[in-house]
Amino acid sequence: MKYKSTRGQVRGISFKDAVMMGLAEDGGLLLPESIPQIDVNELEELAGLAYPELAFRIISRFATDIPADDLKELIDRSYSTFTHPEITPVVHKDGIYILELFHGPTLAFKDIALQLLGNLFEYLLEERGEQMNILGATSGDTGSAAIYGVRGKKNINIFILHPHRKVSPIQELQMTTVTDPNVFNLAIQGTFDDGQSIVKEIFGDLNFKREHALGAVNSINWARVLAQIVYYFYAWGQVSRATGEKEFYFSVPTGNFGDIFAGYIAKRMGLPIRRLILATNANDILSRFITSGDYSISKVNPTLSPSMDIQIASNFERYLFYLYDENPAMVRNIIAAFQDSGALQFPAPLMGRVADEFLATAVDDAHTVDTIREFYNSTGYTLDPHTAVGVRAAQNLNLQDAPVICLATAHPAKFDQAVEQAIGELPQRPESLQGIEEKETRCEVIEASVQAVKDFLIKISENENP
Ligand SMILES: *Cc1c(COP(=O)(O)O)cnc(C)c1O
Repeated sequence: MKYKSTRGQVRGISFKDAVMMGLAEDGGLLLPESIPQIDVNELEELAGLAYPELAFRIISRFATDIPADDLKELIDRSYSTFTHPEITPVVHKDGIYILELFHGPTLAFKDIALQLLGNLFEYLLEERGEQMNILGATSGDTGSAAIYGVRGKKNINIFILHPHRKVSPIQELQMTTVTDPNVFNLAIQGTFDDGQSIVKEIFGDLNFKREHALGAVNSINWARVLAQIVYYFYAWGQVSRATGEKEFYFSVPTGNFGDIFAGYIAKRMGLPIRRLILATNANDILSRFITSGDYSISKVNPTLSPSMDIQIASNFERYLFYLYDENPAMVRNIIAAFQDSGALQFPAPLMGRVADEFLATAVDDAHTVDTIREFYNSTGYTLDPHTAVGVRAAQNLNLQDAPVICLATAHPAKFDQAVEQAIGELPQRPESLQGIEEKETRCEVIEASVQAVKDFLIKISENENP
């Protein structure tokens, strides 16, 4: 399987090179040159497999340049860190199916992709005799999942910037209690936006980037999308075996269009998904796009589901590529128009095609809290605020013609303040969070400037290669 860019100037790239490249060199995003098809017979066969075997069957169709035994071993190792034997179990509550994606080391669905990506990086760097310094900025979730993805790995250092004292206490501790020698938490004296622009500027300094072998783990890496395709198949298998039904809705709480795009690829591979329900919080650029063709940026509103407080959905370009029948010239024009004006209006005929694939709703904080409370009262099950957005979206649409599977993207204990607000008590902590306040931490507080971050990186690499 080869990979090509949405902007048309990069093609014929191997899977391994696609993983190492991240963003395509023409500024676009990488996609497979064709989408493997899974027919009904194979689907039924896959439905009986344990998660790691299923993951191998799906991922090996896309990662054709990694020998089968190596790929199996990488996948097994990636999911051995999960605390649930099924990896992503499905539970049935109050007429809906909840796909629990939060049994990984940082209690959010990003672990599913980043555990695998960390192992892939280590494998590929070893093979190439190279090293990598991962640099990123986080407001919480992605940073901890990335840190756990590469902690203790050979030939990789990771530097994650977070705004000092401005991430939730649990999220901060999930990062700073990782004391492996290759992990560097940098608390910058500034905001999340400062962190992001520092990282962007450093990546823009191509000499510095090359000299220090900088790499990224952001959500545009194809391997992250790929890892997430698997659980759509897994959930389909679980629910179809439990109900005898063969077609489902999936409700997906969305920010970057990453998770839901994986569902879209699963659908294109042949998985019978009636529609994907795109659920946003008050930051509703994506749900406005689906319901009215209006893709116009506004300012970011902080909400109770902070991991979806996003206005620029970095994976959206991948969907546009398919919407425009894989025409890279169209994608280039549309992206350029969006960069100019911050707004796009899609014409009605095209929106008809979007409606064949997606439904969408935005859910505000008040309804998120109500949903956590009502769901708890009727089922005894505690939703985290991101998952509650997806559940509420499904309830609002009131779909009767097929079962709905809602993706549960975080453990409620990770966002315990919102949960407490809804049900009047803190959710029970899973083992990984118990006593986390007492653990040893490691974190460097530094000035929010490009130079301070560069100096830190230089100091570390000089210590390693004196
Ligand atoms: C990242 C994240 C999301 C949004 O996922 P995207 O792939 O960015 O759409 C939803 N919920 C949680 C808990 C997350 O961490």
